[in-house]
Amino acid sequence: MTLVSCTQCGSRVAPERTVFSDGDRLCPECFEALKGARREALLAQTGKPHYATAAGLGFLLGLLGVVGAILLANWSDAVSGLAVVLPSAGVAYGVFVGSGLKRGPRIQALAVAMAAAFYLLNQYALFTLAASRRLDPPRLFLLSPGDFVKAYADNFVPLDPVFFGVGLFIAAWVPRAREY
Ligand SMILES: [Zn+2]
Repeated sequence: MTLVSCTQCGSRVAPERTVFSDGDRLCPECFEALKGARREALLAQTGKPHYATAAGLGFLLGLLGVVGAILLANWSDAVSGLAVVLPSAGVAYGVFVGSGLKRGPRIQALAVAMAAAFYLLNQYALFTLAASRRLDPPRLFLLSPGDFVKAYADNFVPLDPVFFGVGLFIAAWVPRAREY
Protein backbone atom coordinates (compact mmCIF):
# COMPACT_ATOMS: atom_id res chain seq x y z
CA MET A 1 0.00 0.00 0.00
CA THR A 2 1.27 3.50 -0.82
CA LEU A 3 1.82 5.70 2.24
CA VAL A 4 1.75 9.49 2.10
CA SER A 5 3.57 12.07 4.24
CA CYS A 6 1.84 14.31 6.79
CA THR A 7 2.50 17.93 5.75
CA GLN A 8 2.99 18.90 9.41
CA CYS A 9 5.19 16.22 10.97
CA GLY A 10 6.30 14.22 7.94
CA SER A 11 5.20 10.84 9.32
CA ARG A 12 4.07 8.27 6.76
CA VAL A 13 0.40 7.34 7.01
CA ALA A 14 -2.18 5.55 4.89
CA PRO A 15 -3.94 8.07 2.61
CA GLU A 16 -7.42 7.21 3.96
CA ARG A 17 -6.35 8.15 7.51
CA THR A 18 -5.22 11.67 6.51
CA VAL A 19 -7.36 14.79 6.78
CA PHE A 20 -7.13 17.81 4.47
CA SER A 21 -7.10 21.16 6.25
CA ASP A 22 -6.32 24.47 4.52
CA GLY A 23 -4.55 22.60 1.74
CA ASP A 24 -2.43 20.52 4.15
CA ARG A 25 -2.62 16.73 4.34
CA LEU A 26 -2.45 15.91 8.05
CA CYS A 27 -2.04 12.71 10.03
CA PRO A 28 -4.75 12.08 12.70
CA GLU A 29 -2.44 13.26 15.53
CA CYS A 30 -1.58 16.55 13.85
CA PHE A 31 -5.24 17.13 12.99
CA GLU A 32 -6.28 16.65 16.63
CA ALA A 33 -3.52 19.03 17.76
CA LEU A 34 -4.71 21.62 15.23
CA LYS A 35 -8.33 21.30 16.41
CA GLY A 36 -7.17 21.81 20.02
CA ALA A 37 -5.17 24.91 19.06
CA ARG A 38 -8.16 26.36 17.20
CA ARG A 39 -10.45 25.72 20.17
CA GLU A 40 -8.00 27.49 22.48
CA ALA A 41 -7.72 30.44 20.10
CA LEU A 42 -11.52 30.72 20.01
CA LEU A 43 -11.79 30.50 23.81
CA ALA A 44 -9.04 33.12 24.20
CA GLN A 45 -10.94 35.62 22.05
CA THR A 46 -14.39 35.02 23.50
CA GLY A 47 -13.58 34.26 27.16
CA LYS A 48 -14.00 36.59 30.15
CA PRO A 49 -14.03 40.16 28.78
CA HIS A 50 -13.17 43.00 31.19
CA TYR A 51 -16.53 44.76 30.97
CA ALA A 52 -15.67 47.72 33.20
CA THR A 53 -12.52 48.71 31.32
CA ALA A 54 -14.29 47.95 28.03
CA ALA A 55 -17.11 50.37 28.89
CA GLY A 56 -14.66 52.91 30.36
CA LEU A 57 -12.31 53.01 27.38
CA GLY A 58 -15.29 52.89 24.99
CA PHE A 59 -16.71 55.92 26.80
CA LEU A 60 -13.43 57.88 26.62
CA LEU A 61 -12.76 57.17 22.94
CA GLY A 62 -16.45 57.79 22.18
CA LEU A 63 -16.15 61.25 23.77
CA LEU A 64 -12.99 61.85 21.77
CA GLY A 65 -14.99 60.88 18.67
CA VAL A 66 -17.70 63.42 19.59
CA VAL A 67 -15.06 66.16 19.92
CA GLY A 68 -13.60 65.13 16.57
CA ALA A 69 -17.06 65.14 14.99
CA ILE A 70 -17.75 68.67 16.32
CA LEU A 71 -14.42 69.92 14.95
CA LEU A 72 -15.14 68.29 11.57
CA ALA A 73 -18.66 69.74 11.47
CA ASN A 74 -17.26 73.22 12.19
CA TRP A 75 -14.66 72.78 9.49
CA SER A 76 -16.94 71.73 6.65
CA ASP A 77 -20.64 71.00 6.20
CA ALA A 78 -19.75 68.48 3.52
CA VAL A 79 -18.13 66.08 6.00
CA SER A 80 -20.40 66.75 8.99
CA GLY A 81 -22.63 63.77 8.16
CA LEU A 82 -19.66 61.48 7.82
CA ALA A 83 -18.33 62.74 11.17
CA VAL A 84 -21.27 60.99 12.83
CA VAL A 85 -19.33 57.75 12.29
CA LEU A 86 -16.37 58.97 14.41
CA PRO A 87 -17.94 58.44 17.88
CA SER A 88 -19.10 54.94 16.88
CA ALA A 89 -15.62 54.02 15.65
CA GLY A 90 -14.11 55.41 18.87
CA VAL A 91 -16.54 53.37 20.96
CA ALA A 92 -15.87 50.22 18.92
CA TYR A 93 -12.09 50.32 19.32
CA GLY A 94 -12.30 51.50 22.93
CA VAL A 95 -14.60 48.63 23.92
CA PHE A 96 -12.52 46.08 21.99
CA VAL A 97 -9.16 47.16 23.45
CA GLY A 98 -10.60 47.79 26.93
CA SER A 99 -12.15 44.30 27.06
CA GLY A 100 -8.66 42.79 26.72
CA LEU A 101 -8.99 42.27 22.94
CA LYS A 102 -11.95 39.95 23.46
CA ARG A 103 -14.34 39.12 20.66
CA GLY A 104 -17.78 37.66 20.27
CA PRO A 105 -21.47 38.51 20.70
CA ARG A 106 -21.25 39.94 24.25
CA ILE A 107 -18.54 42.48 23.39
CA GLN A 108 -20.30 43.24 20.09
CA ALA A 109 -23.58 43.92 21.94
CA LEU A 110 -21.84 46.29 24.36
CA ALA A 111 -20.10 48.14 21.50
CA VAL A 112 -23.31 48.46 19.43
CA ALA A 113 -25.38 49.68 22.40
CA MET A 114 -22.75 52.28 23.35
CA ALA A 115 -22.31 53.34 19.71
CA ALA A 116 -26.06 53.98 19.46
CA ALA A 117 -25.99 56.04 22.67
CA PHE A 118 -22.98 58.05 21.44
CA TYR A 119 -24.73 58.69 18.11
CA LEU A 120 -27.50 60.44 20.05
CA LEU A 121 -25.00 62.22 22.31
CA ASN A 122 -23.13 63.42 19.24
CA GLN A 123 -26.30 64.77 17.60
CA TYR A 124 -27.29 66.44 20.85
CA ALA A 125 -23.86 68.11 21.14
CA LEU A 126 -24.02 69.34 17.52
CA PHE A 127 -27.54 70.81 17.81
CA THR A 128 -26.83 72.30 21.25
CA LEU A 129 -23.73 74.07 19.93
CA ALA A 130 -25.63 75.29 16.85
CA ALA A 131 -28.42 76.71 19.06
CA SER A 132 -25.88 78.29 21.40
CA ARG A 133 -24.14 80.00 18.50
CA ARG A 134 -27.38 81.53 17.25
CA LEU A 135 -27.89 83.39 20.56
CA ASP A 136 -26.76 87.01 20.70
CA PRO A 137 -24.28 87.09 22.32
CA PRO A 138 -23.46 83.36 21.80
CA ARG A 139 -23.58 81.40 25.06
CA LEU A 140 -23.97 77.76 26.00
CA PHE A 141 -27.63 76.86 25.80
CA LEU A 142 -28.58 73.26 26.62
CA LEU A 143 -31.48 72.01 24.51
CA SER A 144 -34.38 70.38 26.33
CA PRO A 145 -35.23 66.85 25.12
CA GLY A 146 -38.25 68.27 23.30
CA ASP A 147 -36.18 70.99 21.59
CA PHE A 148 -33.60 68.37 20.64
CA VAL A 149 -36.21 66.14 18.97
CA LYS A 150 -37.57 69.18 17.12
CA ALA A 151 -34.09 70.32 16.01
CA TYR A 152 -33.31 66.78 14.90
CA ALA A 153 -36.52 66.57 12.87
CA ASP A 154 -35.92 70.02 11.31
CA ASN A 155 -32.33 69.20 10.32
CA PHE A 156 -32.90 65.59 9.35
CA VAL A 157 -31.08 64.51 6.19
CA PRO A 158 -31.80 61.17 4.50
CA LEU A 159 -28.17 60.11 4.80
CA ASP A 160 -28.33 60.26 8.63
CA PRO A 161 -29.73 56.73 9.04
CA VAL A 162 -27.09 55.47 6.58
CA PHE A 163 -24.22 56.94 8.63
CA PHE A 164 -25.92 55.72 11.82
CA GLY A 165 -26.07 52.23 10.29
CA VAL A 166 -22.42 52.43 9.22
CA GLY A 167 -21.47 53.37 12.80
CA LEU A 168 -23.38 50.41 14.26
CA PHE A 169 -21.83 48.13 11.64
CA ILE A 170 -18.32 49.26 12.65
CA ALA A 171 -19.19 48.64 16.32
CA ALA A 172 -20.32 45.10 15.52
CA TRP A 173 -17.52 44.41 13.04
CA VAL A 174 -14.45 45.41 15.10
CA PRO A 175 -14.95 42.81 17.92
CA ARG A 176 -16.43 40.08 15.71
CA ALA A 177 -15.29 36.51 16.42
CA ARG A 178 -12.75 35.33 13.89
CA GLU A 179 -11.92 31.87 12.59
CA TYR A 180 -8.30 30.86 12.73
ZN1 LIG B 1 1.43 14.69 11.44
